[in-house]
Amino acid sequence: MFDPGVWSIPGVSFWLKVIVFLAICIVTICLLNFKLINLNFKELIMIQKDIEHFKKILTNQLKELLIHAGNTVSGMITPKENLPDPADRATIDTDQNFKLLIRDRDRQLAVKISKALLRIENGTFGICDKCEEEIAFKRLEARPFTTQCIDCKTKEETYENSLGV
Ligand SMILES: [Zn+2]
Repeated sequence: MFDPGVWSIPGVSFWLKVIVFLAICIVTICLLNFKLINLNFKELIMIQKDIEHFKKILTNQLKELLIHAGNTVSGMITPKENLPDPADRATIDTDQNFKLLIRDRDRQLAVKISKALLRIENGTFGICDKCEEEIAFKRLEARPFTTQCIDCKTKEETYENSLGV
């Protein structure tokens, strides 16, 4: 298009050349835009794939927790009457308190996981509760039920530490 032979065709007016040049520019911009749209589309598919990935992890974690909770409860049903020694009974009590503690921790985790699965359903998964920025993929890999980005979490922890909470 910059061949002087073409551009110096007699009879082709200056304005026609300008129009052709502008048309080429518009087409180029359109092509670039299409490329951008394609890129975004690809990203969207990637995000959808990531979400499926986290949904699988969270569902499996929840299943494991529920199985574990079931085992803990069945393990707690041990008849104390069969143990005449008070020391044995005390050991069993401590053991059961420990199991209850674990169960409470598991329950809290199960709630967090359920909430994360809800966020997947309503499309807010991976978005920080505080600053509404995206939570880093690595952080989600480590803690898929997290609700805050690392910056907000660090700020919150620093604040809590300063209060001595
Ligand atoms: Zn944040």
